[in-house]
Amino acid sequence: MSAPEEKTTDAVVAALLEENRVIPPPDHFRAQARLRDESLYAEAARDPEAFWAQQAQRLTWFKPWDKVLEWNPPEAKWFTGGRLNASYNCLDRHIKSGLRNKAALIWEGEPGDTRTLTYWDLYRDVNKFANVLKSLGVKKGDRVALYMPMIPELVIAMLACARIGAIHTVVFGGFSPESLQDRINDAQAKLLVTADGGFRKGSILPLKHDADYALSKCPSIEKVIIVKRDEFPLRVREGRDHWYHRLMQDAAPWCEPEPMDAEDVLYILYTSGTTGKPKGIVHTTGGYLTGVAATTEWVFDLKADDVFWCTADIGWVTGHSYVVYGPLLNGATQVMYEGSPDWPDKDRFWRLVDKYGVSIFYTAPTAIRTFMKWGPEWTQGSDLSSLRLLGTVGEPINPEAWMWYYKYVGRERCPVVDTWWQTETGMIMIAPLPGLTPAKPGSATRPLPGVSAAVLDDQGGEIPVGGGYLALTRPWPAMLRGIWGDPERYRTQYWSKWREDLYFTGDGAKRDEEGYYWLLGRVDDVINISGHRIGTMEVESALVDHESVAEAACVGISDPVKGEAIAAFVTLKDGSLPQERMDEFLKRHVEAKIGAIARPGKIIFTGDLPKTRSGKIMRRLLRDIAEGRLLGDITTLADDSVITNLKKKYEEE
Ligand code: ATP
Ligand code: MG
Repeated sequence: MSAPEEKTTDAVVAALLEENRVIPPPDHFRAQARLRDESLYAEAARDPEAFWAQQAQRLTWFKPWDKVLEWNPPEAKWFTGGRLNASYNCLDRHIKSGLRNKAALIWEGEPGDTRTLTYWDLYRDVNKFANVLKSLGVKKGDRVALYMPMIPELVIAMLACARIGAIHTVVFGGFSPESLQDRINDAQAKLLVTADGGFRKGSILPLKHDADYALSKCPSIEKVIIVKRDEFPLRVREGRDHWYHRLMQDAAPWCEPEPMDAEDVLYILYTSGTTGKPKGIVHTTGGYLTGVAATTEWVFDLKADDVFWCTADIGWVTGHSYVVYGPLLNGATQVMYEGSPDWPDKDRFWRLVDKYGVSIFYTAPTAIRTFMKWGPEWTQGSDLSSLRLLGTVGEPINPEAWMWYYKYVGRERCPVVDTWWQTETGMIMIAPLPGLTPAKPGSATRPLPGVSAAVLDDQGGEIPVGGGYLALTRPWPAMLRGIWGDPERYRTQYWSKWREDLYFTGDGAKRDEEGYYWLLGRVDDVINISGHRIGTMEVESALVDHESVAEAACVGISDPVKGEAIAAFVTLKDGSLPQERMDEFLKRHVEAKIGAIARPGKIIFTGDLPKTRSGKIMRRLLRDIAEGRLLGDITTLADDSVITNLKKKYEEE
């Protein structure tokens, strides 16, 4: 990285940080990669609809579609008239094609218990559970809520819903009873599948206990199914509650897959709530499955003998698309882990990689920054030579975190794919093709074949080089079809910033001379200093670039002179210098890296940053603290004590 002269620009979002490292795909990787040239991009550009129709041939259709795309902005319909079933595509066709005995899920519980389910095993259990759901009165179009730990039964329950045409809505097991309640009531779910509990950081998540609390105010729920994970105490309510294992004993082994319309709803999933109240994002069947099947293969260079491990919880979209649907559609073998990365020690992930020979590893920047904080020694006791590709998703990855991941986990052998996408997009949208695209640490690189993005200004004018708003300019098959129960919000939130055929992502981005996209953070978080609009990502990356900093979050605070000044909340790595000394060092470091304009006015050192339960930094709460306001919605916060402590600390200073 170099320190350019201070730029004075009145761009929509200024781009200050210059990152010049380029890391091309290693020769050995390129030589074996599925995609090594531009032909897929060219094919997609020639005729995007024909291209996606071609990709949809990856799936088995009971009835072919009549029309590839009907686009009445902002309503899109893909593959209209086509009929298919998601569980059939994830399971039945593999059983018939020789993958019958291949491991689909290699699961490990936090205490170390393990189970391996072949495609046949999954198929059998999904069929049975589909019959169980039917026997409890679940019909096509009904909503089923799933509040479970990361255990195979969660995958089984999702696919069983899909098999009979019920709509699943997974609620992350770490959410509170209130959050579960909100989501069940919003979706009007009829049945809940939960577990007696799950293991997390050596303690127990009392899921059924919490669910009972939630259900006291969920009149739509008629039945509850409880998976027995261990010997956790709970109360069973006669008539309403049923044990999974008892129901499965008597269930018939075959359930006809429901031929779903391509546009029938597959699931509802609530967003992370980083910016505000979560939205129930609606995904349908044909386009969604096409998008995730294709992108899983392209971005992860997925092959028959890979062992794929996406560490995301299935409660997030990453788990839906790249634990459940994408890998299973492709007949992949994957690792699924129940617990925390630091249980019993901070090397659990790396031990799992060695134990199961994981070849593709996909995680989040928040996890990588945590590993950085713990120090590289935790990776060094493991071999990690089975790894061949690394990926990240969820937040902008700071270049230093990218390099750390590349160096200490990938051992400079594995390409790193930084993948930008959202709950709303359903599939990865901007990411490298690992055998083709030279990586630039901190950039998600280019839109995938068949995806059209642009950086726009306030008027919707394109910014070919520079910073602005990230927009998606053409419909894509896995796009959301709406917000559950709120068509108006769908329009205003995503399709009203410019024209109603331009999708507003809510993210700021910069496009460089080579057409690479650099995500700058959320537009809501942009800091305005003397008329310069600065994305949080760049200042944070300049801070993380300092060897002592593990993590940083920047927000704007009112300043009588500059309009806003930067307040930086900083977490230091274990074993760094005392905070009093770091304060001035860090201010100078930022100044040297990106200019005086970005020099933080105030640095607040903290052991932890407030994050959503999916690990994203919640800058809106930091802003509330810095401005002395009441805290906004905190229901998606992972740990309230972090914010109360910070508030106290901030007020004392
Ligand atoms: P909410 O919409 O409720 O505020 P959220 O946006 O955090 O929550 P998600 O859909 O889980 O919910 O996250 C998508 C967002 O995550 C993107 O809009 C972007 O801000 C961020 N993001 C995801 N991947 C990347 C990436 N590779 N680089 C930069 N940002 C990313
Ligand atoms: Mg969002």
